[in-house]
Amino acid sequence: MLREEILNDLNAPGENHTSTTRRNFLRAAALGAVVGPQFVLGAEAPQRSAPDGQSFAEPARTLSLTNDADVIVCGAGPAGIAAAITAARAGARTRLFEVHGCLGGVWTAGLLTYIFDFDKPGLTHEIKTRLDERGARRSKNPSRFVYEPEEMKILMDEMCVAAGVNFQLQTRVCAAFREGRRLRTIVTESKAGRQAWTAPVFIDTTGDGDLGAQAACSWEIGQGQECPCQPMTMNALAVVKEANALGPFISFNGTDEFNGPGGHLTAVAAFTEELKRAGIVASYGNPTIFHVRDNLVMLMLNHQYGVKPWEMAAFTKATVDSRAEVFRIMRALRKLGGPWEDLQIAATAEQIGIRDGRRILGRYTVTKQDLVDGTRHEDGVALVTFGADIHAATYDDNKLLPISHGNISMKPYEIPLRALIAKDVDGLMMAGRCISGDFIAHASYRVTGNAVAMGEAAGVVAAIAAKSHRLPHEVEWSEGAEKLRQMGQRV
Ligand SMILES: Cc1cc2nc3c(=O)[nH]c(=O)nc-3n(C[C@H](O)[C@H](O)[C@H](O)COP(=O)(O)OP(=O)(O)OC[C@H]3O[C@@H](n4cnc5c(N)ncnc54)[C@H](O)[C@@H]3O)c2cc1C
Repeated sequence: MLREEILNDLNAPGENHTSTTRRNFLRAAALGAVVGPQFVLGAEAPQRSAPDGQSFAEPARTLSLTNDADVIVCGAGPAGIAAAITAARAGARTRLFEVHGCLGGVWTAGLLTYIFDFDKPGLTHEIKTRLDERGARRSKNPSRFVYEPEEMKILMDEMCVAAGVNFQLQTRVCAAFREGRRLRTIVTESKAGRQAWTAPVFIDTTGDGDLGAQAACSWEIGQGQECPCQPMTMNALAVVKEANALGPFISFNGTDEFNGPGGHLTAVAAFTEELKRAGIVASYGNPTIFHVRDNLVMLMLNHQYGVKPWEMAAFTKATVDSRAEVFRIMRALRKLGGPWEDLQIAATAEQIGIRDGRRILGRYTVTKQDLVDGTRHEDGVALVTFGADIHAATYDDNKLLPISHGNISMKPYEIPLRALIAKDVDGLMMAGRCISGDFIAHASYRVTGNAVAMGEAAGVVAAIAAKSHRLPHEVEWSEGAEKLRQMGQRV
């Protein structure tokens, strides 16, 4: 049979695909269309569109399976970095997967430049010290400060390499498989194709709870099962002629306060007026400038409302629209001249910043009431001091009140280890913004100092569980805390 005839046969309509799969496979193999035990993707794959043309049954494939890790961490933002470094330092063979081309998540790919709630023992302290050693941190405030994103990028590389974390960039975690309640295998997708990985313990640090959702955990987003969610924001770095000349518009300029001269809100009010002078009303009601270093500043100007991270058409539109807004504002400011003359966008973020993603249901759910009560726990792994920071969910709400705080007076509260352990699936932990909490609590603990502290706790507990052949929920937090002390990571 000629190659063309065989391909026609493989794609013949109306065939019973179940009965013909093996025959087709053998024919395709004879054509060199099979590599190892799997179909080559593309024209040679049997056509499996449903008659209505609305679905396609992807042929099953046998993937290479790697079993060389004690702990697999998915997502390398502040939480994932902390989890992977800590697990590796605790003696676990640790793999880390990240979809972007750098480590650091919103710190680097997201061009955040400002850190909140970082005054904690452990890795937060170490990261601050290392940023200071390279002159990459403005302000000596231990809890909140501006940092340089490119220095953070290389610092994360160095710390992961030194800890022995086996990390892989440009690799998306795209599927998860369980045996009963136990998560056993994940699948990644990259230029290497689809690859399967197994380990005794997994940690979801994807921010959006991708792994938890793939493993069929229960989850919530926004104000319950559904959005309204907090909006997304495209951050940008810009070069200015003279940063000092922008002084009144720069947040936390010479002070760490929110109010008063140089304070965040004072600067936001002045910058809003300046934007009006340029004929601009930004889609984010609290437009913000941070001074990163020399003549480099960060602009946080826009909101994209009502978009979920996995609605890809809307997500793409939000990315395009927000980037366009950044440039529109830059051009309008430039026309004002004076300190704005020669204003230039140096970089927009690799990815629009996502505030609200899935919150995976854990063995404890942190709630608004915990903020009110200042709840403490025997298994408390992170002390949160940052209040609820809720960006308006719609453009109209933003005009009235860009940021609200949940109408509560917040007391510092603890996140328990149980909120980092999945309820529905065994062998799965979470850290960062995808842990188990309600909408208001998430709006408080989501900032990056807490993400690091949670990652550290998840990393050490995952390592102990894997090395002692237990599940994470069978490990007492006292064991984790003791191990961190032995490692010199908590004092
Ligand atoms: C616009 C904006 C402003 C903010 N302002 C501040 C602030 O001033 N200070 C502050 O401290 N916090 C701030 N936050 C909050 C804070 O940045 C986040 O909540 C924080 O990043 C949480 O860390 P994380 O590690 O959980 O998530 P992320 O930083 O989102 O990291 C998740 C990582 O996982 C990767 N990933 C996602 N899915 C997959 C997948 N399927 N496979 C592989 N990799 C995947 C992502 O690429 C990313 O690197 C802000 C957030 C936004 C969006």
